Amino acid sequence: MQTDSAFPSVEHESVTYDVAIVGGGPAGLVAATHCRMRGLSSITFEAQEFGGQLVSLYPSKPVTNFPAHLEVASGELARRLAEQAAHFGAELREHEAVESVGYAGDGSGFVVRSTRRVARAHAVLLALGLGRFRPQQLGLKDEYRFAGRGLVYRLPSRDNIAAHHAVVVGGGDTAVDTAIALKAIVPEVTLVHRRLNIRAYPHSLERLNASGVQVILDAEVVGMGGDSVLDHVLVAVRDQEARVIPADLLLVSVGQVPDLGGLSGWDLKLTLDGGHLPVGSSMRTTIPGVFAAGDIVAYPGKIKMIATAVAEGSIAAASVERYLRVDA
Ligand SMILES: Cc1cc2nc3c(=O)[nH]c(=O)nc-3n(C[C@H](O)[C@H](O)[C@H](O)COP(=O)(O)OP(=O)(O)OC[C@H]3O[C@@H](n4cnc5c(N)ncnc54)[C@H](O)[C@@H]3O)c2cc1C
Repeated sequence: MQTDSAFPSVEHESVTYDVAIVGGGPAGLVAATHCRMRGLSSITFEAQEFGGQLVSLYPSKPVTNFPAHLEVASGELARRLAEQAAHFGAELREHEAVESVGYAGDGSGFVVRSTRRVARAHAVLLALGLGRFRPQQLGLKDEYRFAGRGLVYRLPSRDNIAAHHAVVVGGGDTAVDTAIALKAIVPEVTLVHRRLNIRAYPHSLERLNASGVQVILDAEVVGMGGDSVLDHVLVAVRDQEARVIPADLLLVSVGQVPDLGGLSGWDLKLTLDGGHLPVGSSMRTTIPGVFAAGDIVAYPGKIKMIATAVAEGSIAAASVERYLRVDA
């Protein structure tokens, strides 16, 4: 192990991997599995927990559109994807964000700098999804005070829910799915949305209508209260005075702020188009040796789904192999 004054506590890998994969969501994990199945050495970096949006945004949500599964909890699906990659011998590095990717000075490929190491690779596969996420807040004065004391931004695991009255704020698919999931555990669930229409899949709306969740539209949570923990929220319907709704759980689901961590500033000089990397059908970017897959990529007809992310991960792995064994 060498030391480098610019990166004093960083390990310098002596091996050169065939491919370094940045991002351990569905696309990155499946790419790692398929690279190993093709006999390529790889290292996969994940800034947070393996699983991507499946664990960072909606860990308890039942996923109903993944092939061969009538229903699978997103966290469980993520766990199985990581397990499969490990089973095939992929080197997986969790809680290790990549801070930059540049070219190796000797022309041998790329240098990947993470928070813990400097690794070399002949090819790079970018599977950063939408980046790392932090939840959008409501912007209310007591939000900070009740955070973790009844106010949460993502669905806790079933074992950690002991609420009697839950209020969910939001009007998208996540908010709807969250309210329905909570109703199976919490006696009273209210969904508050600031618009008159809920923007969710029709089958989710049908499930919502049948769920017993109370829905308040054209309304906003304008305040919250309680002694040491949350016990009520104030909900204002347009043109009416705010009323008190008992709530020992407030789940705010009004979006997430993505952070691509300065990807466009990396030495590769990648050109992002509306926050996405344009690729062709082989998942090659405009830079030789750099591939991309999953939510970060854009091409005509692209849809952001787990099934497409995993398909693109496997296509990218095949393209990396072709690049290393045929083109290079
Ligand atoms: C609320 C919600 C519900 C959804 N429900 C469904 C559904 O039911 N069915 C479905 O098919 N799709 C669903 N999707 C879409 C699906 O989650 C995504 O299409 C899929 O997760 C994309 O996978 P990915 O691997 O491309 O990206 P991601 O899942 O975003 O994973 C990217 C990973 O890269 C990591 N990363 C980012 N930057 C770095 C860095 N610098 N260094 C290291 N790691 C980094 C991130 O931490 C993240 O873990 C949903 C999306 C949302 C937001």
